[in-house]
Amino acid sequence: MSVDLEALYIDLHRHPELSFQETRTAGVVTRALAALGLDFVEGLGKTGVATSITGEREPEPGTRGPVVWLRADMDALPVHEETGLAYASTARGTDPSGTDVPVMHACGHDMHVTALLGALERLTATKAEWAGTVVAVFQPAEEYGAGSQAMIADGVLDAFPKPDIVLGQHLTPLPAGTIGVRPGTQMAASDGLTVTLHGRGGHGSRPHATIDPVVMAAATVMRLQTVVSREVDPREMAVVTVGSIHAGLKNNIIPAEARLELSLRYPDDDARASVMARVERVVRAEAAASGAEREPEIVVDHSLPPTINDPQATARLTAAFDRAFGEGTVVDPGMFTGSEDVSWFARDAGAPLVFWFWGGVDPQQYADAVARGTVNEDIPTNHSPFFAPVLHPTIERGVDALVIAAREFLS
Ligand code: ZN
Ligand code: ZN
Repeated sequence: MSVDLEALYIDLHRHPELSFQETRTAGVVTRALAALGLDFVEGLGKTGVATSITGEREPEPGTRGPVVWLRADMDALPVHEETGLAYASTARGTDPSGTDVPVMHACGHDMHVTALLGALERLTATKAEWAGTVVAVFQPAEEYGAGSQAMIADGVLDAFPKPDIVLGQHLTPLPAGTIGVRPGTQMAASDGLTVTLHGRGGHGSRPHATIDPVVMAAATVMRLQTVVSREVDPREMAVVTVGSIHAGLKNNIIPAEARLELSLRYPDDDARASVMARVERVVRAEAAASGAEREPEIVVDHSLPPTINDPQATARLTAAFDRAFGEGTVVDPGMFTGSEDVSWFARDAGAPLVFWFWGGVDPQQYADAVARGTVNEDIPTNHSPFFAPVLHPTIERGVDALVIAAREFLS
C-alpha cells in the first residue's frame, strides 16, 4: 500500500484538536499504522501513540542494534484560521476553562504527523536494508509543554526499547526545502511562574491602614525589568516577561492580594538557576520593602528544559543532509527563544537529542520578502492565523529528513 500523504495532511489540517484532546488524530495515526502492519500502544499520556519497527539486517554480534526514537507532536491551538485555504479549519473546541474556542493547526503539528507516517511507511518498506529498532512517538499536548512527560509517566520508556538517540523536527517559516539546525542549544528553556503578593486590604480613602498590593505589584514588575538588563551578562540570552497582572475589583477598595504571571527563558540549566534565584530575590525584597506581613508565594506552573542538540550527532546529521539534499540546504537558524518538551524523552533516557527545523514557505515568496526587507511582516510565523505551509516540497522534505536521519543512526 501507499499512504496518500497530501490527503492525510489536509484531513488532519481540517480537523485540528486541542492539547490532550487529540482523539481523532490518534485514530488517524493508529489506522495508518495498522495499514502498515505495525503494532502500537495507544492511550499513552491520554491520547499519545507509539509504535516500533525492527530492521531485518543482523545487528552487530551480541547487540540488538541501535534504537532510534522519532517523535511528532499532534496538538493544535485555539486560533481562528484566516489563511483562506480551501482546506482551512472551521473547527471549534473546548479549552480547559470550558470556553468554546476556534481551533487551528497554526504550529504545523499536522505536518509533523504526516511526515512521521510517511517516514514509517518508507522505513517499513526498506527494513531488509537496516538493523536496529525505530520507535515512533506521536505525542499529545506539546503546546502545554506537558505531553512528553505524560507519555513518560504512562511508561512509554519502559514499553519500548530505550533510545540511543532521540530525533524530532519542527516546521518553521524558512523557505520550503531548507533545513535549520545547530549544535548546542537550539531552543531555550522556559518556566511559567505565578507570583501571589499578599497585602492587607481596606478602604481606598485610608491607605495608611493597609498594605497596598497594587503598589507592591507595580514596584515588583518594574524591578524585575532589571534582572536581565542589569544582572545577566549582555553576551548571554535571557527573558523575563510579566504577561499578566491582576489585583482589585473597584477604585475605592485596596485589595488584599495581587497576582503576577511570569514567563522566563534561558539557554541552559545554569542560567535558569541564576535567573530564577534573582527573580525570587526581587519578589521577596519588594514584598519586604512594602511591609508585607506574609511572604509572597512563587509557584512554577510549568517548566520546559532547554532543547540541546548533541554536537557530534548534529554534525553527523548535517553531513547526511548535505549529502542527500545538496550543500547549502542546511542553515544555522540561530537559537530560538521558544521552547519544546521533546527533550524529556532524551533526558529521562540519558540519550543524545537532535531536533531540527524545516521550512514550509514558498521559496519565491520568501525571497521576495527578503528583497523587500519585510520577512517579519509578510511571512506568517508559527501560531499566526495565517500560518500556511505549502504542501510541496514540505511534505516530501519532512519525510526524507526523518528517513535520512533515522538511517544515519541505524546500522
Ligand atoms: Zn507551537
Ligand atoms: Zn509546535
